[in-house]
Amino acid sequence: MDFKFSADDEAFRQEFRSWLKDNLPPDWREEGEERDAGSRGEFERRRAWHRKLYDGGWMCIHWPKEYGGRGATLLQQVIYNQELERAKAPPTVNFQGIARVGPTLMQWGTPEQKMRYIPKIPPAEEIWCQGLSEPNHGSDLAAVETKAVDEGDHFLVNGSKIWTSNAHVADFSTLLCRTDPDAPKHRGLSYLLVDLKTPGITIRPLVQITGEKGFNQVFFEDVRVPKTNLVGQKNQGWLVAMTNMMFERTIHGGRTDMMIEIEQLRDLARMVQRNGRPAWEDSYVRQSIANFACEAQALKYTSYRQLTRQLKGLQPGPEGSVMKLGTSDLNLRIQKFAMELLGPYSQYEYMSAGAIDHGKWTYRMLAARRGTIAAGTNEIQHNIIGERVLGLPKG
Ligand SMILES: Cc1cc2nc3c(=O)[nH]c(=O)nc-3n(C[C@H](O)[C@H](O)[C@H](O)COP(=O)(O)OP(=O)(O)OC[C@H]3O[C@@H](n4cnc5c(N)ncnc54)[C@H](O)[C@@H]3O)c2cc1C
Repeated sequence: MDFKFSADDEAFRQEFRSWLKDNLPPDWREEGEERDAGSRGEFERRRAWHRKLYDGGWMCIHWPKEYGGRGATLLQQVIYNQELERAKAPPTVNFQGIARVGPTLMQWGTPEQKMRYIPKIPPAEEIWCQGLSEPNHGSDLAAVETKAVDEGDHFLVNGSKIWTSNAHVADFSTLLCRTDPDAPKHRGLSYLLVDLKTPGITIRPLVQITGEKGFNQVFFEDVRVPKTNLVGQKNQGWLVAMTNMMFERTIHGGRTDMMIEIEQLRDLARMVQRNGRPAWEDSYVRQSIANFACEAQALKYTSYRQLTRQLKGLQPGPEGSVMKLGTSDLNLRIQKFAMELLGPYSQYEYMSAGAIDHGKWTYRMLAARRGTIAAGTNEIQHNIIGERVLGLPKG
């Protein structure tokens, strides 16, 4: 494992850093918690920043050049993300389109689909969401029930998708649906592209425990989807969905460096009192924070091992599942410990008057649950590690 960046990589870092310095207005910096865009206005503000990055040639840098990317290397992507974080850049939009839909279409789309849909993804001219989970089927994705009946030149879709992030601001959705109810469950599925303005679609926002409205339930009633929007072969949608999931898991590998958070926890422990003295003077508090720091370092080096494997062109190892499980679980425990430190102050909501640290710990504690569920729950990650890594028998 080589911890140093090459001269070329450092030059890339300087180029992007100075572009950010010249182009990110100081009042656009994201000083608070990174929350879901709460209003159309906030969404459009983020789209304006997204557009600025795109116009400067700094959007979709990992995409191949033929699709408008820079063909950036893995290390350049790491540097790119580090610099965005360092500059406190606001979030961009169209995450699902860029990270999942675009790359899936590059692999599976027809020439017409590639030409029609891919160019509008990087500039966020068309926003995408993904319709996989259903009210009765999340972890067991292959059991989806939303039906698409072949009616010649179109499919007639009926059913419902849930937890669909960004559907309320999206123009299009991918849709995993059942086209052969009699086939074994993995072989009767198809993968469609759906225009969300099609008659028969209703989108209802779902309010999360944090109060944010980032995801939705989407209802389909006799929705006509043209056959030209079928990706891959009819009844072979599971293969397309697996490509989609592969991109999803790579991205949800989790945060690689949690030390900033732990340093903030240390500062909190110095600020609040426990038994009439700063909490930091209590050895239980210091030892707990030291344990978090040790775990965070172990996870950081695990993520470096994952990166090294990828750079050497080796097959992904178990680190992806370990990182997803480890980082989301550690994050949750850090936030719960912050609640313990805050005592009654933990009940103040984010940004409410009188809250310590603007109530950010309470927000983070509530938000931490997402990480343990999205992109394959932690119980499912335990199963994967147990069965595929440790070779334990199936439960
Ligand atoms: C922030 C967020 C954003 C999301 N965005 C999207 C999106 O854009 N599009 C989309 O399609 N979905 C999205 N999801 C949904 C997500 O993929 C599902 O919530 C997840 O796959 C779990 O499915 P479920 O909620 O149906 O839970 P279930 O599958 O019903 O699981 C319920 C519980 O049972 C446990 N469980 C289930 N099966 C097993 C098993 N075999 N062994 C042990 N335990 C098991 C689970 O771990 C969980 O604790 C999002 C979720 C979150 C939290």
